[in-house]
Amino acid sequence: MIFLNNYISIKKKFDQINLKNNCTFIVVSKNQNFIKIKEIIDRGHIDFGENRVLETKNKWENFLQNYPKKARLHLIGKLQTNKVKDAVRIFDYIHTLDSIKLAKALNTEQNKISKSIKYFVQVNLANEQQKSGVLKENLSELLNFCKTETNLDIIGLMCLPPFGEDSEKYFTELNNLNIRFSLKELSMGMSGDYILAIKKGSTFIRIGSAIFAE
Ligand SMILES: *Cc1c(COP(=O)(O)O)cnc(C)c1O
Repeated sequence: MIFLNNYISIKKKFDQINLKNNCTFIVVSKNQNFIKIKEIIDRGHIDFGENRVLETKNKWENFLQNYPKKARLHLIGKLQTNKVKDAVRIFDYIHTLDSIKLAKALNTEQNKISKSIKYFVQVNLANEQQKSGVLKENLSELLNFCKTETNLDIIGLMCLPPFGEDSEKYFTELNNLNIRFSLKELSMGMSGDYILAIKKGSTFIRIGSAIFAE
């Protein structure tokens, strides 16, 4: 099983560079079946990333009903307001909060259940048209809204650097924004750049293809 060997070797490397022991390794299990995921859970892994609410429900609901403590789920894909009700019930972390409208919807649904979900605000650092994320110039307004008008626990910022570009300047920029807004956690770094991301202060890395690609 190649993916399991990939997981084991990345985990080993991760443990060696996670010197401050403050970084969380998220296995991005989107598009993967639960048989594979279970193999990784059986190695003691807890944090998993998914990008679609319905797929997550179908794959995980059964398992989590039986073993609620065995996994923490991270939503890393775009969240539509009509999926918010399901999202707050199944996810522990939402990395893709990016608008006031979404913050309002999340707050309403979260207040109906007693669960403490942690949120990242996704920032669209390069103003990419096709990409989600709040623009830098609107970040302050969104964070301020969440703080004063909602109970959402915003723990940090998340970014997805432009494809094919050197990630370093985006990681530095996101770290600087985090400091400016006194936020603690940073969700950045994927298969191709997670080592750099950790050096730049990331506390949540999201790894998919380095584990699962054939
Ligand atoms: C798919 C995805 C990842 C994983 O990317 P890899 O390059 O496959 O490790 C990380 N973050 C987000 C937001 C994703 O959609």
